[in-house]
Amino acid sequence: MKQTFVRRTAAPRSDSRPLVTPLQPSVVYTSDSPDMLDAQYDGDVPGFVYSREGHPNATGLARLIDGLEGAEGGIVVGSGMAAVTATMMGVLQQGDHVIGGNQLYGRSLRMLQEELPRMGVEVSLVDATDAADVARAIRPNTKLMLVEVVSNPTIRVADMSAILQICRDNNVLVAVDNTFTTPRGYRPFDHGADIIIHSVTKLLSGHSDAMLGYVAVRDAELRDRIETVTMTLGLTASPFDCWLAERGLYSFDLRYQRASENARLLADHLAGHPAVKRVLYPTRPDHPDHNRAVDILQDRGGNMLSFEIAGDRAQANAFVRACNNLPFAPTLGDIGTTISHPASSSHRALTPEARAQMGVSEGFFRLSIGVEDIQTLKTELTTGLDTTA
Ligand SMILES: *Cc1c(COP(=O)(O)O)cnc(C)c1O
Repeated sequence: MKQTFVRRTAAPRSDSRPLVTPLQPSVVYTSDSPDMLDAQYDGDVPGFVYSREGHPNATGLARLIDGLEGAEGGIVVGSGMAAVTATMMGVLQQGDHVIGGNQLYGRSLRMLQEELPRMGVEVSLVDATDAADVARAIRPNTKLMLVEVVSNPTIRVADMSAILQICRDNNVLVAVDNTFTTPRGYRPFDHGADIIIHSVTKLLSGHSDAMLGYVAVRDAELRDRIETVTMTLGLTASPFDCWLAERGLYSFDLRYQRASENARLLADHLAGHPAVKRVLYPTRPDHPDHNRAVDILQDRGGNMLSFEIAGDRAQANAFVRACNNLPFAPTLGDIGTTISHPASSSHRALTPEARAQMGVSEGFFRLSIGVEDIQTLKTELTTGLDTTA
């Protein structure tokens, strides 16, 4: 009989296995029987059921990042902000108080300032480079502090050991957003942090084509609470993005090494150009937090650097146009170098006075350094800077 329609059949059997992790976009999984499904839900036999609750590409990726962070049971979610959301919604309830660094990633700041207060959570923002400011903010109901080791775009280095000590003494959980530093620069669990957050979108994945987040939690009970929140709020990661990120992660160490070395050399190169007023790179001796940076990061200055040129928006426009091989794009962690201009992007909502207080002028640029040949980068940036002189 002629077959006029196609029905699903099981995938072909194979006793050999693919070298590459299979991409598994299936939203749902079949089980043999109600007994088997019951056993899966009870955790007695392994298996996935519905991809919002978990799927092989997310779990596989999570185990790889766990390895880098020295964590167990990390959870991969749909974006870095989903990881921040999962942390806040898993830990906090009405009446709690949360402390955040006042130079956190823009959307994290907005979550603290605009979303949590309407749910009855009290918020204080502090200068994370000043231990006394952190200590002063502690209240009896303080539950959590969210901190980034290196701030964006001002490259200030938080007083991590003091923060961890103060929070430990006061029974306050510390969540470290480790996106900028990466586990190559700093491993929060080695220093006593409770929660690690990543925007996997950035360096870990490394190719600006996958949007993902990760959260690891030291306490097993709290970890399960946060995982439940990710399922209930639907913070799920896409299998394809997980698959891309896994592929990117295999070259993370090489990319990090090369990009950091490039950044260190470029920081010195830029500092020597007459159009450059100042360069911010953690391991340079003229960095405002140099001693702490060396203490925390040793020689791992990372791939991010900021610098300031003289002049106003016109000079800024001229510089960006003249660097025409270096994409002008407000993100970081790509395999290639990108330039961003905080005054017109991440910090555009601030008043010029508020920006000036942070040192973010119209001539302030942030570079996310990639793996290109260092000589090419030096030449292209020099060409850009020469036009502004
Ligand atoms: C980009 C970023 C985030 C948000 O991550 P998304 O993947 O874009 O949601 C959070 N924290 C830091 C430090 C970031 O750079």
